Amino acid sequence: MSEQRLDGKVAIVTGGASGIGAATVKLFAEKGAYVVIADIQDELGKEVATSIGTDKVTYRHCDVRDEKQVEETVAFTVQKYGGLDIMFSNAGVAGSNRNILDLDLEDFDNTLAVNLRGYAVCIKHAARVMVARKTRGSIICTASIEGSVAVTGGFDDKGYISSKSGVLGLVRATCGDLGEYGIRVNSISPYLVATPLATKALNLDVSQVEELGVAAAILKGIVLKPINIAQAALFLASEQSAYVSGHDLVVDGGYLAVNQTFK
Ligand code: NAD
Repeated sequence: MSEQRLDGKVAIVTGGASGIGAATVKLFAEKGAYVVIADIQDELGKEVATSIGTDKVTYRHCDVRDEKQVEETVAFTVQKYGGLDIMFSNAGVAGSNRNILDLDLEDFDNTLAVNLRGYAVCIKHAARVMVARKTRGSIICTASIEGSVAVTGGFDDKGYISSKSGVLGLVRATCGDLGEYGIRVNSISPYLVATPLATKALNLDVSQVEELGVAAAILKGIVLKPINIAQAALFLASEQSAYVSGHDLVVDGGYLAVNQTFK
C-alpha cells in the first residue's frame, strides 16, 4: 500500500490537546496537513501545537457544548488555512459511575452535551462549510466499543455509554444526508486506551489502566496506545478510504467480535 498522506489538507481535531486527539494532531501534521486543535484545555493545547513546531498547527479555544464557538472555530480554520477537508470530532468526557436508580441527571446531561450534542454540532458546521465550498470532505467521530456493549471493568457511566451508542446512530443518520455532496462520515470505536479520560474514569494510574486493558484483551502482545487510534483516523481522513462512509472502524483487537458472541 502506498503511504497515506494528507498533504495540503486542512483538519480540525476536537479534543486535540490530549490523548487520542493529541496523537492524531501530531500524525496528521506529520502527514502534511494543516491542523486546528479545538479544545478547552488552553495551556495543554498550546503546548501540543508548540511541540510540533510548525505554523501549520494552531490551537483555538473551542467548547463543543457551545454552537457559536464551534461555528467560529470552523470559520477561523477556513480563514487561516483556506478550507476544511477533515473534521475529527473526538472531544470527550466521562461522568460518574452510577446505578440507574441513582442517576445524576446534571452529570448525564453534561456528558451528552459534549459527547453527543457536541458531535452533532461539529458535523453540522463542518458539513455546511464543506457543502458550500464543494469539498469532498471526511468527518470522523470517536465512538467507543462502549457504544456497542456495556463493558464494565469498573466503568459504568450511563451517560457515556448512551452517548457513544448515540454517536454510532448519528454517523448512520448523517452519512445519508451528506453522501450526495461526496462527504464521508465514519466513526472509530477504540478499546481501552490509557489517556487522562480513562485514568480519571477508572480512578487508576496509566500503568494500571494498561494492565486492565491487557488482562481483558483478545489480541495479546500489544498495549493499545493513542497512536493506534490516530492511525485509524488517518486512514479514514485519507484518500485511501475514498469509498468508506457510514462505517464504524472498530480498533479493539477483536474484543467486540468475541464479546458479542453467544457463548
Ligand atoms: P483525553 O481526556 O485525553 O482527551 C479528551 C479531550 O477532550 C481533552 O483534551 C479535553 O479537554 C477535551 N474536551 C473535553 N470536553 C470538551 C469540550 N466541552 N469541548 C472541547 N474539548 C473538550 O481522553 P481520550 O481518551 O483521548 O478521549 C478522546 C475520545 O476517545 C473521547 O471521545 C473518548 O470518549 C474516546 N474514547 C476513549 C477511550 C479510552 O479508553 N481512552 C476508549 C474509547 C473511546
